Amino acid sequence: MALVVQKFGGTSVGDIDRIKNVANKVKKEVEAGNKVAVVVSAMSGVTNQLVKYCNDITEDFDKREYDAVVSTGEQVTSGLLAIALQNIGVKARSYSGWQVGVKTDTAYGKARIEGIDADTLLKSMEDGVVAVVTGFQGISDEGRVTTLGRGGSDTSAVALAAALNADRCDIYTDVDGVYTTDPRIVKKAKKIDRISYEEMLEMASLGSKVLQTRSVEMAMKYGVCVRVLSSFLEDPGMGTIVCEEDEIVEKEIISGITYSRDEAKITLLEVADKPGVSATIFSFLADANINVDMIVQNISEDGKTTDLTFTVPKLELANAVDIIKSHKDVINYRDVMSAANVVKVSIVGVGMRSHVGVASTMFKSLAEKGINIQVISTSEIKVSVLIDDEYTELALRALHTAFGLDKEEE
Ligand code: ASP
Ligand code: MG
Repeated sequence: MALVVQKFGGTSVGDIDRIKNVANKVKKEVEAGNKVAVVVSAMSGVTNQLVKYCNDITEDFDKREYDAVVSTGEQVTSGLLAIALQNIGVKARSYSGWQVGVKTDTAYGKARIEGIDADTLLKSMEDGVVAVVTGFQGISDEGRVTTLGRGGSDTSAVALAAALNADRCDIYTDVDGVYTTDPRIVKKAKKIDRISYEEMLEMASLGSKVLQTRSVEMAMKYGVCVRVLSSFLEDPGMGTIVCEEDEIVEKEIISGITYSRDEAKITLLEVADKPGVSATIFSFLADANINVDMIVQNISEDGKTTDLTFTVPKLELANAVDIIKSHKDVINYRDVMSAANVVKVSIVGVGMRSHVGVASTMFKSLAEKGINIQVISTSEIKVSVLIDDEYTELALRALHTAFGLDKEEE
């Protein structure tokens, strides 16, 4: 007998037939003799609509009330799934976040889970009743409902699995696993059988939208074995297992290639090449809560001025440029340029630690396609480049082939 947490995403519970389908999947797990807790998302589209309702009144809303509104989607699904389970003879009941003691901080709209009181759930499972828990929500110590940020029900599921010491946390979604790259762009993309926490964490934060980044952080911290699999397949197979690196036998040098169109580029021309200049620029942006990601700065030939290029979230581009312009006197530069037509393409793999020449292979295959690299950033297990977004598909395909990830022709 295993203790299993099953999580079903928005598309998996998108309408009543799909909820009935999910009930059958839960039933199968129960009939296999396992103890089961289920975490659900809102039906697809519902959270977007709820967010829109708030924005339609004002964009400057009370975040506590926003959370009161947007957390309701999950409550509908949990009740409906409990009904669907009872309807096919499975004992079940719904629980909201506060009813199972999902305690969070007070960062309304993007709260972090601080702890879960597992006793209620364990008791329910002990009694043979499937607990259907609302994802995405918790309760703050002010006694108010919180939500965990978009995509947060993945994190609810992993947190629950950690608190229950579950054997598995199965995340059911509309794809059958994590792919080497976006299969809609690269037909030869392959499903990955196993991927390490660290790689998944990089991939999630670099643009792969399969799991919420925080859920991977949490899985890594507590060693929760996560599986990503499809709720639409009769037999979903093993999906993709996210686990410790040493549980992976066959390792590729590069595990995945991601892309993100969420960033934009800013270049300051002729800023002074002296101590404190970067500190000044980036503290203005930090004060405005603007996250800077990639940065390049060159040395200057004459020792006087240099150009500085960096990226910020596309949504913050106008704001960032305004801030820089309004501090022109203090920062002291000749001109500022910006571009939104860029994409960040990243290769991710723990194999990079022990192999040389990975970055050069990347750069060479982009060069062969005539793709110019605008900015580069690296970490121990990833290399990211910023390129013209017109070349996204070409770059992904070229890199996928260059790193030997292409699926064999069938
Ligand atoms: N319903 C929430 C959202 O759409 C949480 C989730 O589905 O993970 O972001
Ligand atoms: Mg999701």
